[in-house]
Amino acid sequence: MYLTFHCPNCDRTTQTSDVAQFTELSCEHCGWGRPFPEGVERSNETPSECLRCGNPDLWRQKNFPTSLGLLFVAMGAISSSIAWMYYRPILALSILMAFALLDMVLYIVMSDVLVCYRCRTKHHDVDVSQYKAFDHETGEKYRQEEIRRKEAEAEAEKKIPD
Ligand SMILES: [Zn+2]
Ligand SMILES: [Zn+2]
Repeated sequence: MYLTFHCPNCDRTTQTSDVAQFTELSCEHCGWGRPFPEGVERSNETPSECLRCGNPDLWRQKNFPTSLGLLFVAMGAISSSIAWMYYRPILALSILMAFALLDMVLYIVMSDVLVCYRCRTKHHDVDVSQYKAFDHETGEKYRQEEIRRKEAEAEAEKKIPD
């Protein structure tokens, strides 16, 4: 299993190698580090909680960048409109279908990842079968939590005398 996480210190993304070799998660950009949560399973199977923050709520998703999917749709639409303009309806339709097919094939071959609701750390190379896709209710719960946390932080900052 390896992780992609967002560093809380410098806001950049780090992709680790196999976490079974490490006892600490560290940022490759600024050197921020934190030990893995106590008792967390780091071998190549199913993590029972997030390896960065210890949160048990994870969702499964395809490791497929949304922007890439959108790019395919746009490319298919543009090239098929061009064919349409030149009175080639069959070509136009074939182009659309080819892009749809390409999109589908990519989706199938892309691996699944587990994403933490709280810190958005991605867990790659894992068995995702016991996890569900993104749930909006749970997502909302964590979004509210994040807002409260930010408010509390801002409050705490105000109280520090100059
Ligand atoms: Zn960092
Ligand atoms: Zn997490």
